[in-house]
Amino acid sequence: MKNKIYLDGNKTKYKGNLHLHTTWSDGSLPAEQVVVAFKEKGYHFICLSDHEIYTRTDEFNTADFITIPGMERGGLNPIPDKDPGYHFGVLDDPTVEPERERFGHLQSFPTPIPWEGEHSPQLLIDEMRSHGNLVVFNHPEWHLTRFDDVVKYDRYFAIEIYNHATEWSTSSSYGAAYWDHALQNGKRVFGIAADDSHAHDRNWKIPEYGGGWVQVQSDTLTHAEIVKNLKMGHFYSSSGPEIYDLRVEDGQLTIECSPCKFIMFKAFPLRGPFIGNYENGEPMSLASMSIEEDMQYVRVECIDFEGNVAWSNPVFVADLLQGGE
Ligand SMILES: [Zn+2]
Ligand SMILES: [Zn+2]
Repeated sequence: MKNKIYLDGNKTKYKGNLHLHTTWSDGSLPAEQVVVAFKEKGYHFICLSDHEIYTRTDEFNTADFITIPGMERGGLNPIPDKDPGYHFGVLDDPTVEPERERFGHLQSFPTPIPWEGEHSPQLLIDEMRSHGNLVVFNHPEWHLTRFDDVVKYDRYFAIEIYNHATEWSTSSSYGAAYWDHALQNGKRVFGIAADDSHAHDRNWKIPEYGGGWVQVQSDTLTHAEIVKNLKMGHFYSSSGPEIYDLRVEDGQLTIECSPCKFIMFKAFPLRGPFIGNYENGEPMSLASMSIEEDMQYVRVECIDFEGNVAWSNPVFVADLLQGGE
């Protein structure tokens, strides 16, 4: 089995929120104030992903903070406003040469989108991609998305596995079961935690800003490097804990993280260990397991004493075998 480093404790990681709203759609703060709020919280990048309106705001970019162009595209329901429907995160991908023109700043899109049958979500995903974007399946749990949708539709890059706004407001925010369903059916897709924040007051005791994020390993903080590393899966998602290092050496998958209550190796179809110091309650920051060739994938969840989670991206076992990637 090959050795592979997924996250390197010696390399820089940049913190980002890929899903939020401003007054360009239904958010409470204008973009300039959103940028200030996330800078104050120690973020390095955000996507101003307003509903049906694309943002491209290079004017906010500095040496230590950037905005990734994008939007949230929705309004696609078999029965308007009744069926669960689809919201997709749309992120500008500068690492590809698009077939069609890239979207411009404040370019707006009509909603609802007419439903033309089951292929409609795929048409929308492909259309967004043809303009040079990555596509994310947003908040599946909150939307009551059908599990099969994450298998039936293709060419999306990630599933939103934690959506803080829907946890903050309705406690229905965890999409990791959808992710496992996609992975178990052979999809190579990543998981993303994000805020989806709309409202913010810096005096609020329970803030909507800063509840879910990604940490992207990258040599530099540029739009192209961040997106390149997102596409390679060189990142993890979190609502609290940190993952410092994740690697396979001599068939052992080892994770180093901030002090946690549980470290869970979610391997499929052969189960991995779920580890906790049940007797003494001592926090853990290191764990490992042996990978077996019959495993399809392994992903790791680190859960802290407040119940917050860090999610690694999947280790696809086929990549580690001879002839693999
Ligand atoms: Zn949405
Ligand atoms: Zn949203």
